[in-house]
Amino acid sequence: MKSFNSILAAMLVLAGFSCKSTTKWEGQGPIQIIPTESRAIEKQVKQTYFVGDQVYFSNEFEGARLNGAEKVNDTLYRVLILPENEPINPSPWYAFKVWSERAQTFWIEFTYSENGFHRYFPKISNDGNQFSNVDSLNFMLPKVQEGRPKEAYLKVTSSPDTLWIAAQDLVGTVDAETWKDKLAEQSFVERIEIGKSTEGRKLEVLKIGEADDREMLMVISMQHPPEVTGYLAMKSFVETICEDSPESRAFRKKYNLYLMPQMNPDGVANGHWRHNAGGIDTNRDWVNFNQPEPKALAAFMEKKVADTGGEFVFAADFHSTWEDIFYTINEDLEGNMPGLIPKLIKRSSKRIPGYDPNIRPTETNERSVTSNSYFFFVHGAESMTFEVGDNTPRDLIKQKGEYTARELMRLLK
Ligand SMILES: [Zn+2]
Repeated sequence: MKSFNSILAAMLVLAGFSCKSTTKWEGQGPIQIIPTESRAIEKQVKQTYFVGDQVYFSNEFEGARLNGAEKVNDTLYRVLILPENEPINPSPWYAFKVWSERAQTFWIEFTYSENGFHRYFPKISNDGNQFSNVDSLNFMLPKVQEGRPKEAYLKVTSSPDTLWIAAQDLVGTVDAETWKDKLAEQSFVERIEIGKSTEGRKLEVLKIGEADDREMLMVISMQHPPEVTGYLAMKSFVETICEDSPESRAFRKKYNLYLMPQMNPDGVANGHWRHNAGGIDTNRDWVNFNQPEPKALAAFMEKKVADTGGEFVFAADFHSTWEDIFYTINEDLEGNMPGLIPKLIKRSSKRIPGYDPNIRPTETNERSVTSNSYFFFVHGAESMTFEVGDNTPRDLIKQKGEYTARELMRLLK
């Protein structure tokens, strides 16, 4: 049996991507301007599937994604995972619970819509809170079509105790709220509600700092629900800025950091692959502003600038993709602090032995539909999309977030 990593490597090579350190991944192609008026989404039916032999599968929790479950035979059960609507970027999120009245060992077959394929290496948890990678011996991707695995098989042992199975740690809902509560206990953190999502969830910005608003920073994450690794890098970045150290305290006296960690709360709560409750990729809506999330944040930033006469000097949007990559602005263009981003990536990367950052500046000089482009072209903020690989080790993610914050504080001193 091939290991997941070798299959993933084969998959990326077949898909035209390279994971060899000698040739860098070229990242996504140019981003098209697409209509962003709301489109219908199909809501998954929230239910517990009793599939026979006293085995249960359930999607009855926030962030779940499970569209069907059935028994194939005594040692095989099949689950169906569907997107909220199509066309959609291939990021098939799944999350569900399994239990049985007596202990049983069986395989679970993951199946997807016609254009879907398996992407995320499964994580399991006994409490819905602490997740870990499954043992690779219990996981198979036997059939690869056009470079992508069509189905996946995971061996589990169920019991009366609930087992959670998910594409990544379930951090987008409860964990994110707990984390924000904890941050907000500090005197220099303030919560600001800037609007509501389509389903009425709070859109919230945290103000971190005790400065005037002459020079401001903006950080966002989780426009795309499954992008947990980017969220973890953002957390590490923000926690470093919030430290009780002379450097962080001085930084917070000079700059206010505005943070929107949950850019798409509806998408996360509904276990979406990519879109918000309006069925749209919010990171294609930063010109049209048809969706409440980008619209509220842009209005907040523009009002801040108008009210204070200050400016945003730095912005980062944290995401996840196949491999670590930084999407930056064309280096010929100058914002409010020319050269800040290339210097920052270079210096923070240097602190990680053997790490050679993959940096992809935009080739055109024109504004596009992403947040990164909005931050730069409208606000002059030196801006980047900070992409973390789906399988980047967690300690490296933490280091990257931390070192980026430390070098940023040094550069902005
Ligand atoms: Zn993304």
